[in-house]
Amino acid sequence: MNIIDLHCDALLKLWESEGKSPFLNAPEVETNMERLKKGKIKVQGFAIWIDPVINSDQKFQVALEQIDLFYQEVLGKNSAMKQIKSWSDFDELNDGEIGAFLTLEGVEAIGNDLTRLRILYQLGVMSVGLTWNYANLAADGAMEPRGAGLTTLGKEIVQLNNENEVLTDVSHLCERSFWDVMEIARYPIASHSNSKTLCNHPRNLDDEQAKAMFEKGGMIHAVYSPDFVKTESPATIADLIKHIDHFCGLGGVKQIGLGSDFDGINLKIQGLEDASQSQNLINELLKFFKEEEVKGFAYQNFLNNRPKPLVKER
Ligand SMILES: [Zn+2]
Repeated sequence: MNIIDLHCDALLKLWESEGKSPFLNAPEVETNMERLKKGKIKVQGFAIWIDPVINSDQKFQVALEQIDLFYQEVLGKNSAMKQIKSWSDFDELNDGEIGAFLTLEGVEAIGNDLTRLRILYQLGVMSVGLTWNYANLAADGAMEPRGAGLTTLGKEIVQLNNENEVLTDVSHLCERSFWDVMEIARYPIASHSNSKTLCNHPRNLDDEQAKAMFEKGGMIHAVYSPDFVKTESPATIADLIKHIDHFCGLGGVKQIGLGSDFDGINLKIQGLEDASQSQNLINELLKFFKEEEVKGFAYQNFLNNRPKPLVKER
């Protein structure tokens, strides 16, 4: 069964190897081309993630270097990889082709310069998370003790996302930032988060948050990191499925998707250790849910809920 996976950190791995890891088959890249093919990943989101230790004045440069690797290494050397640059491109993929799109995990790279954000949209960024875990100029993240919400700049970024049909990703936000985003985002999404009720981790969403996301027409994509699945290890595929089931119980059966976080996590669920094993999750889901529902989680729900082109006023 085809899968749309909203989140991986392969670009970080490629960047850290200084381009020496071939995207085609590097064993250290969990979402390499051969593994995507084997796992029947039809579309993969590729996050741009900048390590907080990088100096502020270097962050935009690093973002561009990761985008360069996306163009040169992911797309340039693998003709079956097709860039997705607009929401309708999902419908244009032929058999044997794999779609790839860029996401931005934290806006540190733009500083306070919205021109830079517009340039990133032009280069193909289709989803923007305001921050990764800590505080920045836009918002406070899930691990920031202060727990403040969006700044004026953060709100401007969400508005710009709205105008450009770009998703606003809540996955790493603190609670207050989450609610600020939900108030103004036209296209909110949680690209890689699980249920806080089942696993009490700041990166997960509580029931009120999940319900608010579903009511707004947004998607929650379940993440495979054991840390966000179960408090005591080891976490199993069955434990991950409990999160999907819990979100279904909150009314989300048509708004749940998948966001592996491969290449961004150290611990793995046994049997779900890289993209090539993705069908193990699908096969297990098919034991608990109707085929139509599993197809929804795997890809159809995202397609049904993706941003619709705005009718431009004349
Ligand atoms: Zn993340």
